[in-house]
Amino acid sequence: MQRYDVIIIGAGPAGAIASKTCTEKGLSTLLLEKERIPRFKPCGGAVSTSALSHVDFGIEQDLIERECYGERVHFENHQIEVRRKSRMAILVSRDKFDAFLVSKAVDAGVELREVEKARSLNQKQSTIVVETNKGEYNAKVVIGADGVNSIVSKYVREPYKHDELGLCIAAEIPVSNAEVDEYIENAVDIHYGISKSGYGWVFPKEQHFSAGVGGDLSSMKNSRSMLLTFLKKLGLSTDVVTHAHLIPSGGYEREVCSDRIILVGDAAGFVDPFYGEGIKYAFISGKLAAERVVESYENDEFSKSALDSYKRSCRTMFGENLEYSLRLTRLVNKYPNIFFRLLSSDKKVLDKGLEIVAERMRYKEYRRWLIPRVPYFMLKALLPF
Ligand SMILES: Cc1cc2nc3c(=O)[nH]c(=O)nc-3n(C[C@H](O)[C@H](O)[C@H](O)COP(=O)(O)OP(=O)(O)OC[C@H]3O[C@@H](n4cnc5c(N)ncnc54)[C@H](O)[C@@H]3O)c2cc1C
Repeated sequence: MQRYDVIIIGAGPAGAIASKTCTEKGLSTLLLEKERIPRFKPCGGAVSTSALSHVDFGIEQDLIERECYGERVHFENHQIEVRRKSRMAILVSRDKFDAFLVSKAVDAGVELREVEKARSLNQKQSTIVVETNKGEYNAKVVIGADGVNSIVSKYVREPYKHDELGLCIAAEIPVSNAEVDEYIENAVDIHYGISKSGYGWVFPKEQHFSAGVGGDLSSMKNSRSMLLTFLKKLGLSTDVVTHAHLIPSGGYEREVCSDRIILVGDAAGFVDPFYGEGIKYAFISGKLAAERVVESYENDEFSKSALDSYKRSCRTMFGENLEYSLRLTRLVNKYPNIFFRLLSSDKKVLDKGLEIVAERMRYKEYRRWLIPRVPYFMLKALLPF
């Protein structure tokens, strides 16, 4: 049986960054991926500038299909737009973007095994054995980066409850670049009120739009017809292939470690439920987990209590923020007519919200800023001038 210092399961953004960091710190690192890379991943493909600040390399220009400098928001008959001087995000296709991240890990020395699916984990004395469809490997520690349907997570915590999950359904709509320019050019388009919670989106890409609808799992029954109705309303083609995918939306408080196992990214539930941003938290948690593993090797300590310092690091970096994001999301979903209207009719409300994506403001401060202003904004929105 082949032996490694660390085995990472799943080669999405979290697994790529975790494995790259481990190998750079001198650990022999195996990265297992069940698909052949590049693999398809349904996603809006918006990678925020602040997310990119958490990786130590630049993104190849070829991968950047559009740059995002603004956001346009719609709700019922309200529509506003905010534009900024600095780039807020890049728009990518996830198959190519994720393959690029994995290539960075492989260049650094990671051993990648594609089309190899992890099936089970077995703790054996001082190691953990990973059984795949092709063989068995062992290591002192495993990082579960295997996404929202993680099999590694079942060795750490209870499965996600229904109310801890969202569902997003997305499609790619082929159009010319001139049509993309005419519609939105270099901003993202957000439509509230398409689903009961969450939003619909149209993101500009190279020769196509990425469009979709997302919301709480319970509000996304008939998600395909929801998406097709949305596309029709916008005058976009409905002759499209749709892909639905779960997304964690339950905030932060759950187990992310057990003896010799650490969860990262979607497997750990690290997604901002308000914006649906997950790539940033995949990057940060991947790196923090790798640093924790390196520390474990220094002290030869792989128990849950030792690994739990990773959970505390996540809490410090973004945990409280995700918790407040969840609180805000619940409030918005409870009073959609008030908050969707505010977000789509007052530039200040929208602009401040974008400060969160840029990591210049936290949800806690945004909430504190927003709530006392609700009556004023409501009155302003209702007045005809
Ligand atoms: C429709 C949709 C739109 C989204 N849009 C955005 C967006 O615009 N911006 C943003 O920041 N976030 C977005 N997200 C969230 C984002 O996609 C995720 O948060 C992010 O992909 C998490 O990265 P990850 O590495 O944890 O997991 P993943 O990207 O899901 O990667 C997990 C990997 O593990 C592999 N795997 C799974 N099981 C096994 C196994 N048993 N053995 C081996 N390999 C395995 C999978 O094949 C996959 O490659 C969106 C999500 C959805 C569903």
